[in-house]
Amino acid sequence: MTSRVVIIGGGFAGLSTAVHLSRHTKPGDNVEILLIDRQPEHVYLPLIYEVASGGLMEAGKEHSLKQGVSLTFDLDGYLTDYKNVRFRQGEVTDVDTEKKIIKLSSGADIKFDFLVMAMGAVSNTFGIDGVEKNAISLTSLDNALKIRKKCANLMTECERKLRPGVNMVVVGGGPNGVEVASEMAKALEDAKRECDVVCDWKITIVDAGPKILSHLNSMGSWIANRRLKKLGVTIAPGTFVKAVKPTTVLVERNAKLEHVSPFEKPTRIKSDLTIWAAGVASRPEWTAWGLPTDERGYIKALPTLQMFGTNHVFVAGDSASIIGRRMQQRAPEAMDQGKSVAENLIRVIRGQSILRAHHDRVWPFAIPLGGANAVSSFGPVTIFGIVGYALRKAIDLRYFLGVLPVTRAISVWWHGGRAYMKND
Ligand SMILES: Cc1cc2nc3c(=O)[nH]c(=O)nc-3n(C[C@H](O)[C@H](O)[C@H](O)COP(=O)(O)OP(=O)(O)OC[C@H]3O[C@@H](n4cnc5c(N)ncnc54)[C@H](O)[C@@H]3O)c2cc1C
Repeated sequence: MTSRVVIIGGGFAGLSTAVHLSRHTKPGDNVEILLIDRQPEHVYLPLIYEVASGGLMEAGKEHSLKQGVSLTFDLDGYLTDYKNVRFRQGEVTDVDTEKKIIKLSSGADIKFDFLVMAMGAVSNTFGIDGVEKNAISLTSLDNALKIRKKCANLMTECERKLRPGVNMVVVGGGPNGVEVASEMAKALEDAKRECDVVCDWKITIVDAGPKILSHLNSMGSWIANRRLKKLGVTIAPGTFVKAVKPTTVLVERNAKLEHVSPFEKPTRIKSDLTIWAAGVASRPEWTAWGLPTDERGYIKALPTLQMFGTNHVFVAGDSASIIGRRMQQRAPEAMDQGKSVAENLIRVIRGQSILRAHHDRVWPFAIPLGGANAVSSFGPVTIFGIVGYALRKAIDLRYFLGVLPVTRAISVWWHGGRAYMKND
């Protein structure tokens, strides 16, 4: 009898599950894998800051920028390398784990024997007024392209002397906020120089915590601070965002932190473009679907990555809360969980009763800082500059090798590297 494994989400965790299942099942296992995602492609999110800032003044560049981060699922696309994996584009709107059926927005019902929930997380707006409407969150390829377009339009207005400058606020001083702010600063300077545009720009990073990149050791955080200042980026730590308006961001100091915020009183910062990079939250639909969730709304799973109360539903990646523990919401961790899910699924399908517990690891960070520059810290060790950048490129390659056959992986990595190197 054929076992049908349905995976919801073709991000890091879902894709890794599909690839490992396909690579390690034998024809006798009779496994059919259906990967469902609402998008037609898998997006390598760690590089979308390059799409947001790439070749701002160059028309027709979108295609090559997209190629370095997106792997299309369609039949002529990349999943053809994995014979027993099929892809269906669709938005899942309901899950019935008892009847073993999921519903798509098209009205179609899809049956499964085993289900993998790998739907990721959503941008955390903290319910702040105006974020949804007036800010663009850096969480998808579409939004990265929107940011690029808006920024290019603002620069064109400068070129035509319709505005004196560009004001940008990046909310969140974590890795995503820092990488997009530094790359944007570099891109705006390049655009000014190469296209002779007279334009004063100002980028402000706003963060509620005491410093940017607070998860790095203090050396790493200090290096990033110094580099951002050199690039001309203003940093406002200890500062809360209270509201986002179409052309301003209302901020006030974090009263718990003395003398950290540059703002003594509530202030409106000018912002023609507000980029939201303030972290992630759980998807509200999971509780509506009656799935077991923890107090933060993430799906509760056992160390075997089986969803609480079931043997046939697994959870992986940003969606999972493993016995209440907060796992690192990181790409390599999501991929590792996908691999563990695949291994356990194979055990269940082969009738074995003992499953392996997933052990999370601490993964190093390598955060790009504009151009051929990045900072990486692992415990007390800090690597930066071009060496940090080389490490970052090696991490990107390792990822592509994890999900693609070797020659294809090198080709996608090389293509993206070449397209983005022009920015560096
Ligand atoms: C801008 C950005 C940069 C990042 N940079 C790094 C980095 O440098 N290093 C690092 O380690 N981590 C990074 N991360 C974090 C990392 O990308 C996440 O931890 C990782 O994507 C989690 O993988 P996942 O598979 O759980 O979710 P995702 O990769 O988010 O995949 C979830 C998938 O589910 C699909 N989906 C959701 N709901 C539905 C539905 N109802 N129906 C159908 N499909 C659905 C989505 O379309 C998506 O494809 C970054 C994240 C962002 C946003």
